[in-house]
Amino acid sequence: MVNNNYALIKEIKQYALENKIPIMQNEGIDFLTTFIIKHQIKNVLEIGSAIGYSAIMMSLCSPDLKVTTIERDEQRYLEAVRNIKKLKLEDHITLIFNDALKTKIDGKFDLIFIDAAKAQNIKFFELFERNLNDNGYIITDNMYFHGLVQKNEKEIKSRNVRGIVRKIKDYISFLKSNENYNTTIYDIGDGIAVSEKKTKEGV
Ligand code: SAH
Ligand code: MG
Repeated sequence: MVNNNYALIKEIKQYALENKIPIMQNEGIDFLTTFIIKHQIKNVLEIGSAIGYSAIMMSLCSPDLKVTTIERDEQRYLEAVRNIKKLKLEDHITLIFNDALKTKIDGKFDLIFIDAAKAQNIKFFELFERNLNDNGYIITDNMYFHGLVQKNEKEIKSRNVRGIVRKIKDYISFLKSNENYNTTIYDIGDGIAVSEKKTKEGV
């Protein structure tokens, strides 16, 4: 990463902090970028761009990597457009301004990264797995939801938050019982699930 990029990324992280935009934590982003390099991922579909931070960090892993990313919030989308321009990554990142659940994506990806509305994870998974290459991976962020998933539900005061926590638990059960994938949840950042598509053996 050249020094100028470093300063720009620092600015993006500062903007996220000031505007309470839930970008990936350092530990999580290190895991994700290391994963991309290790598995020689060539293209990524991201659900939930926010201001483009994780898309930019992934894109900087390799000049050959293409990232397609979807965001439904207009202000965040516009900020993502600006950030991607600043880093001169327009040829490497495709931003889509839409509700992901209403978006049909063509093509296949080595990695699908789900980091949007936490209660909708099963829907995102089921909608976009058709875009996953054989031997591809689906990675989902925030499996701990700020540590609340491991907490006793009675300690969670907000009904809304309790609802999200329940949905994340349902998603974990969905992943664990999904016979087409091997899922591991890593104790990194806010909890990261890696679901590896099983190859069809003997066919
Ligand atoms: N991946 C980003 C952070 C994403 S935060 C990073 O680490 O830098 C989650 C984002 O998902 C929010 O900006 C929210 O507006 C967006 N989002 C939530 N539900 C969505 C949906 N159905 N379609 C598109 N974007 C969605
Ligand atoms: Mg996240």
